[in-house]
Amino acid sequence: MIANSSRSAITEEMRTDRSILWFRRDLRLLDHPALHHAAREGREVVPTFVVDPALTGPSGAARLAFLFRSLRSLDESMGGRLIVRVGDPTIVIPSLALETDASEVVVTRDYAPYGRRRDAAVGELLAAMGVEFVGRGTPYAVPPGRVTKSDGTPYAVFTPFSKAWMSAGWPEPVGSVDVNWFDSASLVSEPIPEDPSLTCALPPVGEEAAHLRWESFLGDGLDDYERCRNDPSKPGTSRLSPYLRWGQIHPRQLLNDLGDAPGHATFRKELAWRDFYADVLFHHPSSARDNLQPKLSSMVLDTDASARQRFDAWATGHTGFPIVDAGMRQMLATGWMHNRVRMIVASFLIKDLHLPWQWGARHFMRHLVDGDLASNQHGWQWTAGTGTDAAPYFRVFNPTSQSERFDPTGAYIRAWVPELAHVGDRDIHAPASPMVDHGVERAEALKRYREATGR
Ligand code: FAD
Repeated sequence: MIANSSRSAITEEMRTDRSILWFRRDLRLLDHPALHHAAREGREVVPTFVVDPALTGPSGAARLAFLFRSLRSLDESMGGRLIVRVGDPTIVIPSLALETDASEVVVTRDYAPYGRRRDAAVGELLAAMGVEFVGRGTPYAVPPGRVTKSDGTPYAVFTPFSKAWMSAGWPEPVGSVDVNWFDSASLVSEPIPEDPSLTCALPPVGEEAAHLRWESFLGDGLDDYERCRNDPSKPGTSRLSPYLRWGQIHPRQLLNDLGDAPGHATFRKELAWRDFYADVLFHHPSSARDNLQPKLSSMVLDTDASARQRFDAWATGHTGFPIVDAGMRQMLATGWMHNRVRMIVASFLIKDLHLPWQWGARHFMRHLVDGDLASNQHGWQWTAGTGTDAAPYFRVFNPTSQSERFDPTGAYIRAWVPELAHVGDRDIHAPASPMVDHGVERAEALKRYREATGR
């Protein structure tokens, strides 16, 4: 349990003026409410990051490298003071509290299922030691659970949520704070792990890189966002998702800088989707694994050995459908994929290959540097027709016509599927040697849908 107010077994005279600031997905120093709280009235702050095998274990090389580089950048920005420990936080954090004689551990609240379980366990252990566990701030503009209907129940549909979200509003950024860092020379810090060997090019990491990206997009891209954001061959979106995922910039900073122009309004709405999905996951933690809406739970899905082979062809970008292969290869090469193409490849896995959305979601979480449980699982559930506000199941994306519409010159395909570089603009969208017949699989998907829903 994270406390908001003072509550402790130890008396005031026994308290030290020392706080552990436990960084998780808030890897920045600016606009950091938990850091402000930890550093209040000149208290000493012990900056800490726990490399938790439960989270790093399922992560792929790009994701890990982005995290480790981000930790190096954070460490540098605080003069090499970051204490890094590898292990289970329920062991590491209480023992660090003992070692440093800290009277409190301060965190930015986490709302995902694992984070909530972990924080409840750590909080209990700290409470038994008389150490407070304090939550300040969240990774969202509006904390999950805050925006509800007038009867107190959560919203199930995006549009009314986004209207209530806008009315709820968000606080101004809190800027920087002077910190009296604890002299950590006497403390053991494990080295930040080496980057795994990478075959892909990552964006620059860190708080400064995040602000530079935002300033550049604000000055140069946002006015065209409305027009260009669906074209995967153009740098038409902000590419801020990895920085938002790791908290190198906070959404309230972005929202604070937005005006009323059409691109600005659309961008604000995208940030509302991020908060919406976090809210849905908060209210329905099991939706990280299970269909949010059980109506399609009886649908037949393929999971046998041949399904595995089809999955592998999809995952490595060898389906024969140019736009699908381009997307999958972009993700493997950069740790990121354009939103329009995420929808196309997800639809292909679910409706052309008849595989469980969870297989695709797991693959995305392994490889995306912005992989975020709420946005990812619910992006997948939206496409599968099993989520909140979902696209109806019978809306099946046609990968060829999507490609003709959103990548009309084939520039995106040529960038990622070099064997098609010589093919002309008109022919490049059509699959030359497709692994399935889209028309046949579309009909099969609709048949399974009708059987499952009785329609
Ligand atoms: P921009 O268009 O510049 O949008 C700005 C920000 O708004 C994004 O950085 C993101 O934080 C938020 N945002 C935009 N679209 C969405 C959306 N549909 N849902 C939630 N937030 C959104 N986004 C992730 O951050 N992590 C994921 O793991 C993730 N997995 C996805 C899986 C699928 C199947 C789908 C269809 C979408 C997924 N998205 C995910 C949403 C979206 O694709 C990315 O946020 C977007 O492509 C990131 O690029 P950008 O920063 O340039 O976006």
